[in-house]
Amino acid sequence: MEHFLCLTPEKPLRTGTLKPRGDYLDTRDYLPGSVVRGALAEWLKLQGKESQIVPTVQKVRFGNFFPSISESIWALPFPMTALECKLHGGFRNDPKRSGEKPGHGIRDSLLIALAYAELERQGARFPVPMLLRCTYEINGEKCGGRMERVSGFYAALPEGWRVMEIEKALQTKVALSRHRRAAQEGMLYRVIGVRPKAISFVGRLWTEDETIIEELKQAVEKIGVGALTTRGFGAASLKAVEPGIEPIAERLRAFNEKLREVWRDLANLAHHAGNLVPMEPSGTYFSVDLLSPAVLRDPHGLPTLKLFLNLNGRWREPVFWATQPTFVGGFSTAWGLPKPTYLGAAMGSVYVFHADNPQEKLLPFLEELEAQGVGLRTDEGLGEILVCHPFHKEVMPV
Ligand SMILES: [Zn+2]
Repeated sequence: MEHFLCLTPEKPLRTGTLKPRGDYLDTRDYLPGSVVRGALAEWLKLQGKESQIVPTVQKVRFGNFFPSISESIWALPFPMTALECKLHGGFRNDPKRSGEKPGHGIRDSLLIALAYAELERQGARFPVPMLLRCTYEINGEKCGGRMERVSGFYAALPEGWRVMEIEKALQTKVALSRHRRAAQEGMLYRVIGVRPKAISFVGRLWTEDETIIEELKQAVEKIGVGALTTRGFGAASLKAVEPGIEPIAERLRAFNEKLREVWRDLANLAHHAGNLVPMEPSGTYFSVDLLSPAVLRDPHGLPTLKLFLNLNGRWREPVFWATQPTFVGGFSTAWGLPKPTYLGAAMGSVYVFHADNPQEKLLPFLEELEAQGVGLRTDEGLGEILVCHPFHKEVMPV
């Protein structure tokens, strides 16, 4: 069963690996599931329940916790296909920017690129290559700026869209010798943490044993999360929340409806150019969006950045995808050991699949897929997915 939780830091939070960057230890701007799992393991260990660590964490799949301004809002990472104007990025109606110059808007290019690619595959020849430029109007003229990828997280608030910005706090720490627990001369280092100001982390976990949520709450509140909890980082509180996210059926319906609109416009263009292509897409399309990095394997077990799905006993390849490689490492807070590093597909990667089945026939498969995640190490938050990310509907700049 899927549960949403909200973690609110009371002290700066360090969620990065212990890999130094420059002269400081940087932090991630989200809380990976592995960090939350580490807190639970450490809590059990501290109570002398070492033998329970493995059976307990095996009953849970940890998702990732994303920065949000409110416990009732699940902020999401932008899909890799989200674009903004290179000259003036940002949302047009960001409530935080009122009074300032508005951004030229953020839009998603997936459905346009998908319809374009699928129509070309079916014989359409377009007079111009697909090129999205900024359509923001200044004194009746279009800006025309190039579009570039947006990274980070956004929240869809009732009053408008907002890019989540995280304040980082810099602290100078005295390095302690691991053995003597004493300050080593001259070894000062600076640590960056997420500043605990008006920010919460909202994320999912899956378990059938609800007592684990109570145990996790204890763990977070008693010992904190992330690295360096003994040095004033990571104190936090945790509670169950219910942020609104449309069910998969609704996301799938909206995704296909919007695709149909975009498809019709492009098919019309192709018809004018004399190509006879279908005016409507056939079957059902769905996207699988990575909310965290994923370590993927192809049907032969070989590493890949492309997602393969086994649907009705047959391996399917995506008909369209956008991905980037990333390194996936990790650090076990409970055992104090680094984990092996893999090459993975980055957060925000998008894979689109096509099936002949009607939408309702695909729902059980898609619900199971979202609950399981994709690839390796899904129990610690890797390969967390969203089926039909709601931002794909934002074909026009918002
Ligand atoms: Zn622009």
